Amino acid sequence: MTLQEIIDSSDNIVFFGGAGVSTESGIPDFRSVDGLYNMKYDYPPETILSHTFFMNNTEEFYKFYRDKLIVKGVKPNKAHIALAKLEEKGKLKAVITQNIDGLHQLAGSKNVIELHGATTRNYCEKCRKKYPSDYIYESKEAVPHCTVCGGIVRPDVTLYGEQLPAGAYESAVKAIKEADMFIVAGTSLKVYPAAGLVWDFKGNHLVVLNREPLDFKLDAQNDIEYTGSMGDVFAKLDKMLHLG
Ligand code: NAD
Repeated sequence: MTLQEIIDSSDNIVFFGGAGVSTESGIPDFRSVDGLYNMKYDYPPETILSHTFFMNNTEEFYKFYRDKLIVKGVKPNKAHIALAKLEEKGKLKAVITQNIDGLHQLAGSKNVIELHGATTRNYCEKCRKKYPSDYIYESKEAVPHCTVCGGIVRPDVTLYGEQLPAGAYESAVKAIKEADMFIVAGTSLKVYPAAGLVWDFKGNHLVVLNREPLDFKLDAQNDIEYTGSMGDVFAKLDKMLHLG
C-alpha cells in the first residue's frame, strides 16, 4: 500500500517524532552531520542537558540553552502543518513528541503529548512562578532568578536523569496501543525511555520516515520505510490528500 492509501484507510493515526521533525525549521537535531553532536562544544549535548550538569555547571548549562535551545523566530514546517491538518480532519489522534520546541502546537495541533517538556514554559524552582522563554533569553544574569523569591528560573524540560512529565508516558502508551497507523519520524530512537514506546504499537500499518535509516528494524512488516527528507514527504502528502 502507498502512504496515501494507508492514510485514506486509517482513522486512528498516531505520530511519534523526534528532533528530525524540526530540522527543516532550522533547529539542529543531535545526531545528523550538522547536528549538535558535531558542533564544537566542550561537552556532548546529552551531558550538558543532564540534571547533574545543570546542578554542577549551571552557568554553562544556560549558555548552551540560550545559544542552542531557545531558537528565536522559528516557524512550523510542512511536516508540523500537515500533521495539524490531519488532526483537524479527524484522522490523526495524537502527536507524541520528544521535541521541546513547541512547534506542533504553533502549527495548530491540539493533542500533543510532550515527553520531554517544552522550552516555551519556564518556572521558578522554589515558588513555581511561571516565566516565558524570553525571560531566560533576555536576562542579564548568567543564571536567571525569580523576581519574587530569588529561586532559579529553569526550563520546563526533562533533563537526562529526570523523570518524564507526570502522565505523559502513560498517555503515549494508550494512544499508541489504540492506533491503527503509526508514523515514526525524525528520530534515531536512542533516547530512553521515550524510544521504548514504539514497541507498544500493535496496529496494522507502520511507517518510518527518517533521513538516515534506523540502526535496527522496527518491524519485519514495515509497510513503508522511507529514507529522505520529511519535508518532501509531507509536501507531497499535502497535495495528495488535499489537506489545504
Ligand atoms: P536524533 O538527533 O538522535 O535523531 C534525529 C533523526 O532525525 C536522525 O535519524 C536523522 O536522520 C533524522 N532527520 C533529521 N532531519 C530530518 C529530516 N529533515 N527528515 C527526516 N529525517 C530527519 O534525535 P532524537 O531521536 O529526537 O533524540 C534527540 C533528543 O534530543 C530527543 O530527546 C529530542 O527531543 C531532543 N532534541 C530536541 C530538539 C527540538 O526540540 N527540536 C532538538 C535537538 C534535540
